[in-house]
Amino acid sequence: MRPGHRGRRLLTALALSLPLACRDAPPVRQFDGAGAFPYLETQVKFGPRIPGTEPHTRMAAWLDSLLRQRADTLMVQRWNHVTTKGDTLPLINFIARFNPAAEKRILFLAHWDSRPRADGPNSTDSTVPVPGANDGASGVALLLGVADVLRRAPPKIGVDLLFVDGEDYGDFTDTPTDVLIGSRWYAAHQAPGSPPLYAVLFDLVADKELQIYQEGNSLVGAPEVVELVWDTAKELGHGGYFIASPRHTLIDDHLELQKAGIRAIDVVDFDYPAWHTREDTMDKVSAASLQVVGDVAVGLVRREE
Ligand SMILES: [Zn+2]
Repeated sequence: MRPGHRGRRLLTALALSLPLACRDAPPVRQFDGAGAFPYLETQVKFGPRIPGTEPHTRMAAWLDSLLRQRADTLMVQRWNHVTTKGDTLPLINFIARFNPAAEKRILFLAHWDSRPRADGPNSTDSTVPVPGANDGASGVALLLGVADVLRRAPPKIGVDLLFVDGEDYGDFTDTPTDVLIGSRWYAAHQAPGSPPLYAVLFDLVADKELQIYQEGNSLVGAPEVVELVWDTAKELGHGGYFIASPRHTLIDDHLELQKAGIRAIDVVDFDYPAWHTREDTMDKVSAASLQVVGDVAVGLVRREE
């Protein structure tokens, strides 16, 4: 993910077109941030999850096993991606489906790979990989925590948890080739059945200093989903972390889904100095921040039931 073009006029009057069930009864807290945090730790311990490397292979086996134990159905998409430099990357998307026959569905996604080069603006050494505690591991831990909730209390609507590969491999350009690879693959090979009502991408969601502003391309592409998510956060008492004003505009996986007609937004804390540096490590992230974002994710599921 990277900062995109600024200066686009953001929508100010947001029309809310999604049905809001149970507005009087705020969703119950079910997400366990402390229980989900070890999922984050385990990923960092694998080492950088760079496609084609041993930690990537081991992480794929771990994820596959956890998701099979939790989801009603697990779809696994495997393919080879040839980069602009001619390297072949073995990539895998996982789609953990809950209540797969339900017509009314929502989709949550996160990327599970990590970046091979620490080439962010604050980096002091771009030859090393990014540990990816927040960039990669946090979103996956969040989705795994949601999977735990849905296994204990199955949703009345359909929920798909999509773990995309190859988000962060190459260079970000206006015509991305070696980044956002898994989301682009998914957009072209979607799960069968009804398309999702909307999709939420979770990226960089465990910063100890959590502050999640509304993202520019989300406000342009799916403003009613942004409003739904920030309303849900406010109702749960998390309005101090989900700040209802725009800040950054980013090129991220949600754009590939938007191009395929899915109402997709990015929930991302881009005020993270360790982004794309070797300092993206365990000491920067917390279970308390995962708890906040996990509450919102589960709240979104419950309010549609
Ligand atoms: Zn990244």
